[in-house]
Amino acid sequence: MTDTMLSESLTSARERLSRALVTAGRPADAARLLAVSKTKPAGMIREAWQLGQREFGENYVQEALEKQAELADLEGIVWHFIGPLQANKTRAVAEHFDWVHSIDREKIARRLNDQRPDALAPLDVCLQVNVSDEASKSGVAFDELEGLANAVLAMPRLRLRGLMTIPAPAADMASQREPLARLRLALEALRKRFPEAPLDTLSMGMSDDLEAAVQEGATLVRLGTAIFGARNTSHR
Ligand SMILES: *Cc1c(COP(=O)(O)O)cnc(C)c1O
Repeated sequence: MTDTMLSESLTSARERLSRALVTAGRPADAARLLAVSKTKPAGMIREAWQLGQREFGENYVQEALEKQAELADLEGIVWHFIGPLQANKTRAVAEHFDWVHSIDREKIARRLNDQRPDALAPLDVCLQVNVSDEASKSGVAFDELEGLANAVLAMPRLRLRGLMTIPAPAADMASQREPLARLRLALEALRKRFPEAPLDTLSMGMSDDLEAAVQEGATLVRLGTAIFGARNTSHR
């Protein structure tokens, strides 16, 4: 992908998000774009940063650390870890990321809390919820969500910001919206249960279901393909 193509796809991703917000009757700043840069080279991230993009999502710890080292001069860049997180990788994530979206068990949260350096702000985190009820999908079940939130809220080096999900693919808008609506209701329930918590984030919506997610209140949409082009699947 050339620089011009990236500029065009980033512009059209921004326009797509703006249109979706207008259609949903929500304010223009009610949701922001997380550029998912997994498998893409550091040079593309730099280019997107030069075009004003600040928040980037990565899935693979080692790959992300290499790109972060290369891009250490980029001011105001915000790194989100959005992939599955194993216990032996939590220290690197606690030390090198600003956000983690994929917390689905207390053990991982506790390690991140213990390993977050004091010199850094608390780590912003979302709990990943399994909205599609498939045994193979990661994420905490709805009926275990309140307990996990309660545990994370007691961890001083983590700041619980909201919920994230990766729904099963669905063909039409109505069936895309249904599980996302359940995530929105779960966040509303947590807000009532924990009124002091800074629960302002619904991380949902990807290249295929952005409009449905914005209709259901997404505040952070995670776009990879729509910004950076198709990923070379043989890479992973
Ligand atoms: C890869 C990925 C995305 C981006 O998906 P696209 O379909 O390329 O937009 C979003 N969220 C998560 C958790 C991902 O792993």
